[in-house]
Amino acid sequence: MAEFKSIGVIGAGQMGNGIAHVFAQSGYQVLMQDVTEAFAAKGVATIDKNLQRGVDKGKLTAEEKAAVLGRIRTTTQLEDLAVCDIVIEAATEKWEIKKQIFETLDRVCRPGVILASNTSSISITKLAAVTKRPEALIGMHFMNPVPVMQLIEVIRGLATSEATFEAVMELSKKLGKTPIPCNDFPGFVSNRVLLPMINEAIYALYEGVASVESIDGIMKLGMNHPMGPLTLADFIGLDTCLFILNVLHEGLGDPKYRPCPLLIKYVDAGWLGKKSGRGFYDYSKA
Ligand code: NAD
Repeated sequence: MAEFKSIGVIGAGQMGNGIAHVFAQSGYQVLMQDVTEAFAAKGVATIDKNLQRGVDKGKLTAEEKAAVLGRIRTTTQLEDLAVCDIVIEAATEKWEIKKQIFETLDRVCRPGVILASNTSSISITKLAAVTKRPEALIGMHFMNPVPVMQLIEVIRGLATSEATFEAVMELSKKLGKTPIPCNDFPGFVSNRVLLPMINEAIYALYEGVASVESIDGIMKLGMNHPMGPLTLADFIGLDTCLFILNVLHEGLGDPKYRPCPLLIKYVDAGWLGKKSGRGFYDYSKA
């Protein structure tokens, strides 16, 4: 079984800094790469802030926090990832960006080094095909916020080897997470099931079945969901919801995935949810 000591993380954004955080907290050396020093520093500052919350709650000591931060280094050069034993990519969700990253990683990383992607919607099989090591490509789909959420959806591409799969399952467990496998089809399992539910909630609003508050209240109390589907959509970002629905619609070719016209209208209006201050709810005063 492969032994991992040094972990490469591409992207220091919302997901990348969370992934770096959990690896460093589990004792691994982490090298986090982003396109500018400023983006990388912002990622480290977020990790610092999240760890401090743990210190304030008495869940870890100031010394432990300093040790975790001490295991994280940053770079702007993908070539520096050559030292890593596995690389997890969490850069912006754009095919051209990921294609270029995986081509470069394939060139600079040692033969046999596993290259994982945290993509929500891009085919692992297609990413694998831009490299000369498709057997070492795999999806590690962490949930947001990474330090809190238990699941890692582990996605096997068409060519992913059993050795790669077993190594990633084992590594995920060493992080204290629960890895659950699935195969590579649009939206994997998580988004294939979640997004149609959110879309249906938007259709219910669009058709006047109930108000925003009623739809969320019924789903929260009736299904024991921690938050209603419209609140969740606002948190995910309505543009991201629309993007993933389009991936499902185009990738699976079934009209049941067609995005609700109301969702399209909100995105056109710039009502993107919490991040823009307005979605199904108004966050401008929050
Ligand atoms: P984000 O916008 O917060 O961060 C993306 C980071 O990637 C940015 O810091 C950006 O500067 C960096 N980046 C862009 N191009 C790069 C390049 N060429 N090399 C290195 N870094 C580059 O996005 P995010 O929400 O962290 O999403 C990252 C990935 O995780 C995406 O593939 C997304 O689909 C996936 N994901 C997101 C969520 C979520 O809830 N946000 C959940 C699961 C998976």
